[in-house]
Amino acid sequence: MVTEKIGVVGAGIVGLAVARELAATRGAEVTVLEKEGRVGAHQTGHNSGVVHAGIYYPPGSLKARLCREGVALLKDYCARHALPYEEVGKLVVAATRAERPRLAALAERARANGVPGITELDALGLREVEPHAVGVAAIHSPHTAIADFPAVARRLALDVAELGGSVRLRHPVRGIRETSRGVEVVAGTGRFAFDRLVVCAGLGTDAVAAMAGRPGSVRIVPFRGEYYALRGAARGLVRGLIYPVPDPRYPFLGVHLTRHVGGEVLVGPNAVLAGAYEGYTWRNFRNFPQILAWPGTLRMARRHWRTGVKEVYGSLVKSAFTEAARRYVPELTADDLQRAAGGVRAQAVARDGSLVDDFAVDVHGNVVLVRNAPSPAATSSLAIAQHIAGIVPAPSR
Ligand SMILES: Cc1cc2nc3c(=O)[nH]c(=O)nc-3n(C[C@H](O)[C@H](O)[C@H](O)COP(=O)(O)OP(=O)(O)OC[C@H]3O[C@@H](n4cnc5c(N)ncnc54)[C@H](O)[C@@H]3O)c2cc1C
Repeated sequence: MVTEKIGVVGAGIVGLAVARELAATRGAEVTVLEKEGRVGAHQTGHNSGVVHAGIYYPPGSLKARLCREGVALLKDYCARHALPYEEVGKLVVAATRAERPRLAALAERARANGVPGITELDALGLREVEPHAVGVAAIHSPHTAIADFPAVARRLALDVAELGGSVRLRHPVRGIRETSRGVEVVAGTGRFAFDRLVVCAGLGTDAVAAMAGRPGSVRIVPFRGEYYALRGAARGLVRGLIYPVPDPRYPFLGVHLTRHVGGEVLVGPNAVLAGAYEGYTWRNFRNFPQILAWPGTLRMARRHWRTGVKEVYGSLVKSAFTEAARRYVPELTADDLQRAAGGVRAQAVARDGSLVDDFAVDVHGNVVLVRNAPSPAATSSLAIAQHIAGIVPAPSR
């Protein structure tokens, strides 16, 4: 029997999980092509590290289903490989009475999504969970966890190798051609022939989709998420995860306080339109013309300019960031916060300017393209992999 050859573009947590799943369940010979010199170099290595429990997502959506399935798979995976996984718990806090109806709706949604252990707390109750937090009410999700996603990605890469596949670092994909037999890919200095190709390129999705001749109906718009880290003793003010009630108009969750597996506590991320796909700093405007050329970008900017201005202000003025954190933990001062490394989200935006909320995967012949895998895709990665393995066309024999 001829072994099916499958290429995967991108060694982030999604691409590696997909490669492992295809090797394990279909016996495929998988090759992961990654442009950087290490796995998890972009979104997978620059995020809040939260294993989301499934509170926020519309019931019935892919996010809602794959998040819950992903949590169970990830918890088990981390246990099997002795990787950090800590159920530190999360509070979603209403800072004002006006936020209470949205908080109540969120609790209902969490229950509809099957999130275990959700309780509704008053101002006193929330302080039993987080003694330094304030608010008028909160929902508590005791099983929301933290994990080390880059460590998960490194372990997945080992699994791929143990299953007979390979992860080729420093192999930027530069050309894709569909043939009668499959897909030819030029990457690094090599040329690869695959039966199928799965693209999990995160911030590089549009470029790879264009190479495959499948630009699609949405484009990636990069949103930088900046963080501050709490210094020394201030870390003791946060036990687990403290989140605001999110604005339902956006897929981003608002500036939150998150404990990380190494004991660090981060404040962030905000969401600032970046000037480049890998725009980790304000100075990088490399892809701005291309980002602006997508009609959806300007339509989105027109619709949300007020929020955009606020986010830019918060990015440039530290006191605005401090105030966002002090809203929930008033003992914090500006001196407790120091700049930390940020990340850039790959957020798909439609032509009409709407932000694509759900995970999105397209199949075009022998090419499967992940179009939108924002948060909670790290949490959901093992379930996304099962979902994708189910839609990669079977070999025609
Ligand atoms: C600030 C921030 C906070 C977040 N917080 C959370 C959280 O708490 N919990 C959660 O579940 N999710 C969170 N997320 C989302 C999560 O990090 C992503 O959804 C997830 O990492 C996506 O994984 P990925 O493999 O699709 O993308 P990536 O990790 O970005 O991987 C894509 C890979 O493709 C490679 N690539 C691109 N183009 C090419 C090319 N031409 N050739 C070869 N390789 C290429 C890139 O180098 C990269 O390594 C957050 C994201 C950000 C940015």
